[in-house]
Amino acid sequence: MRSGLLLHPLSATAATTAPFLRSPRITATFATLTRANSLPRMASSASFSIENDGGNTAPKVAIIGAGIAGLTCARTLLTSCPTARVSLFEKSTSHGRCATRTVPGIGSFDHGAPHFSALSPAFREQVQTWREAGLVVPLSPFTSSSDSTSAAATARYVVHPSMRTLPTHLAEGLAVHRPLLITKLEYVRKAQGQDASQEQSAPSSPPGHQGGWALHHDQGTVPEVFDAVVVAVPAEQSCALLSPVSPALTSLLAPVRSRPCLSVLVAWDGPTGAPWSEWTADMDGEDGILASARRDDLKTAGRPGREGGREGERVGELWVFHTTPEYSARYIQTEPFPREKVVSDVLRSFSGKFGSGEEGGGTRQGGGRKPAYVAVQRWLYSQTDNPARPSYGWEEGVRLGACGDGWEGGRDGGEGAEGVERAWLSGKGLGERIAASFTRKKR
Ligand SMILES: Cc1cc2nc3c(=O)[nH]c(=O)nc-3n(C[C@H](O)[C@H](O)[C@H](O)COP(=O)(O)OP(=O)(O)OC[C@H]3O[C@@H](n4cnc5c(N)ncnc54)[C@H](O)[C@@H]3O)c2cc1C
Repeated sequence: MRSGLLLHPLSATAATTAPFLRSPRITATFATLTRANSLPRMASSASFSIENDGGNTAPKVAIIGAGIAGLTCARTLLTSCPTARVSLFEKSTSHGRCATRTVPGIGSFDHGAPHFSALSPAFREQVQTWREAGLVVPLSPFTSSSDSTSAAATARYVVHPSMRTLPTHLAEGLAVHRPLLITKLEYVRKAQGQDASQEQSAPSSPPGHQGGWALHHDQGTVPEVFDAVVVAVPAEQSCALLSPVSPALTSLLAPVRSRPCLSVLVAWDGPTGAPWSEWTADMDGEDGILASARRDDLKTAGRPGREGGREGERVGELWVFHTTPEYSARYIQTEPFPREKVVSDVLRSFSGKFGSGEEGGGTRQGGGRKPAYVAVQRWLYSQTDNPARPSYGWEEGVRLGACGDGWEGGRDGGEGAEGVERAWLSGKGLGERIAASFTRKKR
C-alpha cells in the first residue's frame, strides 16, 4: 500500500518539485501576507524572496492544502484579522478536487466535482454573491426557479466557465507556494531571529503558545516558524500529518473514509445518441460500473467563455464518467493501471444504457463513433459519506487546526451538504476561530 500523501490525486503533479527546491542551498524564505482591511492582489509563487519583516509581530499562519477549505480558511482569517501573515502550501499545480482539464482543440472537462450543493444559509449567501458576479450558475433552470426550501434542497450549482475557476478566484491575492509536499509538522520552541532550521526541537512543549510550528517537506524545512498551522487536506492525508502531533484531532478524523473514483473523460466529435445529458446510478441501467455519466459541455451551455473554445472549434460531445466506489477500488491502485480495460468497461456500460446496439466494445462505444479523446483521472479520495462531526478541528494550546470536506462543517444548517459546501463551511469556521485566537490575545 502506498502512502496516501503521494496518491491524491494519482496524477503526475504530485511528484513534481518546485524549481527552488532543487537547489542544494535553500536561500529563500516565504513571502507572506500582511494587509489592512482588504485582501491584496499577489500572484501565486513557486519561487520565493527573502523578506526581512523587521521584527514584525503579526501572527504567522501556515495552511497546508490550497483547495476550497484551505483557501476559504485563509480568506476568512484575513478578513477578520487583516494583520495576519498567511502562507499556503500546495503539493500540486492545481487547486484540489474542484478541478478542470483543458485539452487544446477538444475542450474542458471538470474531472473532479461536477457541481455542488448550497444547503446552509451561510453558503447560500456566498453562492448568491458568486452568482451575482457571474462566477456560479445553477445547473438547470429548475434549480434557479424558486427560493423555496425544497428547491434549495435539490439545487446544484456549477462554476462558470469551469470548476477550477472557483478555487482560482479564491486564491487571488493569497500567497500559495507550490508545488511543495509537506511531509511533517513539528512543534518547536520559538526563538526570536532564528529560522526554522535553527529551532530547538521541543516535542513536549507545554501549551500556552510558547512554541511554533516548523514545516518539513520532502527536501528540507520551510525556513520560517509559524504561530499556527492548518491542515486542509482530505481526511486520510490529514491523519498522516496529524497523528505524530495531535492524537485528539487524529482520533476525530481516523474513522472518516473517502470513496475512490475513476473519472473517465471522453470526447466524441459527433452525437453519441444518448437520450439524456446526465445519468446517475439511481436511474435504470445500474450495472456496478458507472456511478454517473454527464455531458460536460452542456453544463454551462449558451454562456460565453467556456474554456477550450467550444464554439467554432469542435462540434461534438464531451462526457465525464465516474465509476462506482466498488469498481474504482478494484483497479485504482493496480500497477500498471489497466487503462484500456477501464475505458472499455465504461464505454460499454454507457452505450448499454441507451441501447446503441454497438458491437465490439472498446473505445468505439458511444453511438458507434471512435472517441476523439480519452483520459482517465484516478482519485483515491474523492468524497466522503461519514465526515467527522465537528465543523473543523482546533487545538488552542498549540494553535493547530484541521478543516476540509472530512469535517461536517454543518453547524449552521448545512447537514447533508456535499463536499464542496462542507469544505467551504469548514474552512470558514476555522478561519474565524483562528482570528478569534489571535485577536483575543491582543486584548
Ligand atoms: C470525482 C469527484 C466527484 C465529486 N463530486 C462532488 C459533487 O458532486 N459535489 C460536491 O460538493 N463535491 C464533490 N466532490 C468533492 C469535492 O470536490 C471536495 O469535497 C472538495 O473539493 C474538497 O475541498 P478541500 O479543500 O477539502 O480538499 P481538496 O480540494 O482535496 O484540497 C486539498 C489540497 O491539499 C493538497 N495537499 C494534500 N496533501 C498535501 C501535502 N501534504 N502538502 C501540500 N499540499 C497537500 C492537495 O493537492 C489539494 O490541492 C467530488 C470530488 C471528486 C474527486
